[in-house]
Amino acid sequence: MAEGGDLHAEVLVLGAGPGGYTAAFRAADLGKQVVLVERYATLGGVCLNVGCIPSKALLHVAEVMGEAAALAEHGVRFGEPELDFEKLRAHKDAVVAKLTGGLEKLAKQRKVTVVTGTAKLGSKNHALVETDDGPRRITFDAAILAAGSRTVDLPNLPDDPRILDSTSALEVEDGVKSLLVIGGGIIGLEMAAVYDALGTEVTVVELLPNLMNGADPDIVRPLQRRIAKRYADIWLDTKVTGVAAEDGGLRVSFEGKKAPEEKVFDRVLVAVGRRPNGDSIGAEAAGLEVDERGFVPVDDQQRTNVPNLYAIGDLCGDPMLAHKATHEGKTAAEVIAGEPAEFFAHVIPSVAYTDPEVAWVGLTEEDAKRQETPYEKASYPWAASGRALGIARSEGTTKLLFDPETKRLLGAGIVGPNAGELIAEAALAIEMGADVHDLALTVHPHPTLSETVAFAAEVAAGTVTDILPPKR
Ligand code: NAD
Repeated sequence: MAEGGDLHAEVLVLGAGPGGYTAAFRAADLGKQVVLVERYATLGGVCLNVGCIPSKALLHVAEVMGEAAALAEHGVRFGEPELDFEKLRAHKDAVVAKLTGGLEKLAKQRKVTVVTGTAKLGSKNHALVETDDGPRRITFDAAILAAGSRTVDLPNLPDDPRILDSTSALEVEDGVKSLLVIGGGIIGLEMAAVYDALGTEVTVVELLPNLMNGADPDIVRPLQRRIAKRYADIWLDTKVTGVAAEDGGLRVSFEGKKAPEEKVFDRVLVAVGRRPNGDSIGAEAAGLEVDERGFVPVDDQQRTNVPNLYAIGDLCGDPMLAHKATHEGKTAAEVIAGEPAEFFAHVIPSVAYTDPEVAWVGLTEEDAKRQETPYEKASYPWAASGRALGIARSEGTTKLLFDPETKRLLGAGIVGPNAGELIAEAALAIEMGADVHDLALTVHPHPTLSETVAFAAEVAAGTVTDILPPKR
């Protein structure tokens, strides 16, 4: 880490999440002298430290426990699992430490100067950083703002450690009997899966009529059916009206047709969305435009209204996903280095790492109906996939949406184990302008779940033989 004093950077990167460190490393690789400022002691941001990576380490445990228990149906019974929470947390922390340590090494190898502290723009050419050793001033030729987002709070909640957010929920503890998850989005449902596997009775409350809004309801349904059997309750169309901290637990009141009057829970997880950090980066001092939601508007080259300032990741717009941020980070670095780069991905996939996984990319049916976009749909039920039956997961579906004229793939939704891996093929197909025949005639390995993508295309082409072809 760099020591005190003033500093100049050809490229200053503010924030070291997946977007920020990618931008910093790419800029360094393109010959720029880079300073990367991060308020936390480790690089990697929310995703590596308290988001994607630790949650997936815990979700893996949940998945294997679920599979082991399901084997009883096939004649293999294990005893009741014995949980060592300290080891569980240590495994998750070790994964995080390995990755963040790796980033530190990569930064050193690339001669990227890392400054630990909280930065704010002081003008369009300098930032002020509050470090443990006092304030530092960093001047720059160009800056890439990658300050990310933070969790949205619910108003009027008591200040109580039993009310968790996505960060504190990762510190899984023994003896949590009941958990109320407020928000049936990706974070809520992923953490619900972890706590359910670890023996906590889980209840989910969602304001809207559906879980996981954004995905088509038919793709979410198999997940909903499975968790409806496992969880204590799932209340849709229901609002939390109050939480009172009592010695015996958190007393929660609700409003909604099917909601109970009041119920007491050991823990409450608030997972009602994230908001961009545009209000905390000193935008005004630099003349930087921030919209009313806190996003920093950018063009296709990630450039803001101030020509030498670039914004990437959660800070510059939805979807707030690490894999969008990394691509935008590379674009910004390349543009600063004088390359003719632009970020124009046709589609960005979304994945919920629940059990079953829910993944979608490109056009959804809900979007198509709203925008009156014509489409043709073809679905392949996993009940007709030998591989899906072999792993006893026939509830999956692979759905493809095509342009009725050109027969090009417009969107895909997949639900089932590994849907998050399978969706990448659909993303590539859309980017490459692949049509129904490209997908159907690509020889997929047998027996795999990936075949369901080809089979769904065969359904659309009318050539499917593993199920009856659709009537013409
Ligand atoms: P979200 O917006 O996906 O879901 C929040 C849910 O809470 C929504 O369904 C909303 O209707 C509901 N809600 C809002 N206010 C409520 C209230 N008062 N009572 C009950 N329900 C309420 O947000 P999230 O799950 O917090 O995730 C935040 C962001 O992080 C998202 O942009 C998501 O894409 C991203 N993320 C992605 C992944 C992944 O890719 N696997 C994982 C975690 C987070």
